[in-house]
Amino acid sequence: MYDLSNKKIWVAGHRGMVGSALVRRLQSEACSVVTATRAEVDLKRQDEIEKFVEATRPDAIILAAAKVGGILANDSYPAEFIYDNLIIEANIFEAAHRAGVDRLLFLGSSCIYPKLAPQPISEEALLTGPLEPTNEWYAIAKIAGIKLAEAYRKQYGRDYISAMPTNLYGPGDNFDLNSSHVLPALIRKAHAAKLRKDPHMVVWGTGTPRREFLHVDDCADALVFLLKTYSGSQHVNVGSGTDLEIIELTRLVCRVVGYKGEIIHDLSKPDGTPRKLMSNKKLQDMGWEPHISLEDGVRATYAWFLQSENGAGSAV
Ligand code: GDP
Repeated sequence: MYDLSNKKIWVAGHRGMVGSALVRRLQSEACSVVTATRAEVDLKRQDEIEKFVEATRPDAIILAAAKVGGILANDSYPAEFIYDNLIIEANIFEAAHRAGVDRLLFLGSSCIYPKLAPQPISEEALLTGPLEPTNEWYAIAKIAGIKLAEAYRKQYGRDYISAMPTNLYGPGDNFDLNSSHVLPALIRKAHAAKLRKDPHMVVWGTGTPRREFLHVDDCADALVFLLKTYSGSQHVNVGSGTDLEIIELTRLVCRVVGYKGEIIHDLSKPDGTPRKLMSNKKLQDMGWEPHISLEDGVRATYAWFLQSENGAGSAV
């Protein structure tokens, strides 16, 4: 057990969707949270991170900072996705170790697994086959992060752990159609189509790929659970345990948004990996399970979208 009472936790990446959910979740723990804005600490600069860690002396670090994006962004900016993520991870792990920070939780992603891994994907599937080409740059960087945690544990005895969340969604999500993931994209598209009274809305690809989704507040809860209870070199999957076809997700989003037009497919856009359902058995066996259903989560996210900047005005 890692007792959070009176501990100081640095949430790196606190402005992101996961980081901000973690800050919300940690408010109900007896710990203090430290954060740094981009202007204060450039996570791509080793010296800036070292100075910050030396000055603030956190007891633990949650590494939720990353350059993230959907299928198109990953495919379009491979150098940024591999470089930014590798350098941020390497800098933070090394600064943590040098400053004697003995607890670190690194966040990866379900895309670390081979494209054709047996489903549901267990932790053991890591590095057993080729990756999905549309996001291999990001995946390689995230695999390096898992290996950093393992290596610092092995060589220096540091209690560094890794968690691999599935596709997340919720408040603070990115609704920009060129860089977002599918769920926020569908919310935005269905909302815009409803306002414009469009006869149809466009979904990328065939709609047959299957994806798993987890609300970011459930994810933050699981991460705090792992920080408190888990110590081990193997990463831990964090998922909802169920998946659905993109077309089914589209229908669900349209129902929530109240859009009744036709759904048409843009087959010039990639499908990506055919299925990506993680096994959450390891986490379940430890005693954690999700609480927010997909329908409730989509409703809450649509409500957030409507009152956010993105949702203001015509939102098209
Ligand atoms: P992935 O999980 O890494 O493939 O990333 P995404 O969340 O971006 O895409 C998941 C699936 O949803 C892919 O098969 C996409 O082609 C499909 N999809 C359908 N419509 C959209 C859309 O408007 N935006 C995005 N990003 N994906 C879409």
